[in-house]
Amino acid sequence: MTAAAASQLSLVDILAIAAHRDDVEQTCGGTLLKMRSLGLETGILDLTQGEAGTRGSAAERAAEAEAAGRILGVRWRQALDLPDGRVENTWENRLKVAGVIRETRPRVIILPYWKGRHPDHYTASVLGYEACFLAGLAKLDPQTGLSARSAATIESDRLHRDSEKSVVDDGVRAGAPQDSRREAGATPHRPFKIIYATLYYDVRPTFVVDISEQFEGKFASILAYKSQFTDQNAGKDLFPAHDEIHVRVEAMARFYGMLGGVTFAEPFLQKEVGLVDDLLSIPVKSI
Ligand SMILES: [Zn+2]
Repeated sequence: MTAAAASQLSLVDILAIAAHRDDVEQTCGGTLLKMRSLGLETGILDLTQGEAGTRGSAAERAAEAEAAGRILGVRWRQALDLPDGRVENTWENRLKVAGVIRETRPRVIILPYWKGRHPDHYTASVLGYEACFLAGLAKLDPQTGLSARSAATIESDRLHRDSEKSVVDDGVRAGAPQDSRREAGATPHRPFKIIYATLYYDVRPTFVVDISEQFEGKFASILAYKSQFTDQNAGKDLFPAHDEIHVRVEAMARFYGMLGGVTFAEPFLQKEVGLVDDLLSIPVKSI
């Protein structure tokens, strides 16, 4: 199957998964914007809804996430219902994420790096990886966690779960109809590539993406989280004002840009080695 044909069957080409709303904007928003400019479909899965944040309610953050997603041009964005501040790598949570992977069928998944200060971030990394594995298991039904054959015997339970499903669909650009998405959710899918966004942790990336053209768009998507980044008294030590956040975001982008010989970049790590055909076309100057 050609890449174009495969893409037609997928809701998105690239899916970024992160613990909190605004994590994706901060760690790989420029990259998503760039991929969109190349004509690829992108999506974001936030594992939590932000109810434990110092500022703003979950509802405010949902509206902000939708606005940010629109700036980044994503086709699809949802937030799961994992408790904010308590992202756990449980079987049930792995099934929820695996269900999303089957629905959206991305070729590339972006996960948070597996080390970090915030437990939600590093837990989301392992949870995301294991969900990618589960999503590809032919006999697994993510709705029930059972093999397809035994799942058929508890159809009524599945319907019950569906009615309780507490997924927030932000409705960022129209996705596929619910029925076809559910059908797609039953078909195994494993992404071809998993990469890790490392911006939150001091580790040397294995590659960076040049976001020189997308930096301002990335910053605008971060500022869409008005409840987090406006000047107010609550949590002032944690949440710097606009100027300060611009300096920080720009400094990081410039640092990784410098490593790649460009103005602004976002850092990533892949577990696999790089594969090269033509030595003359390897980018990034050595000396
Ligand atoms: Zn976070």
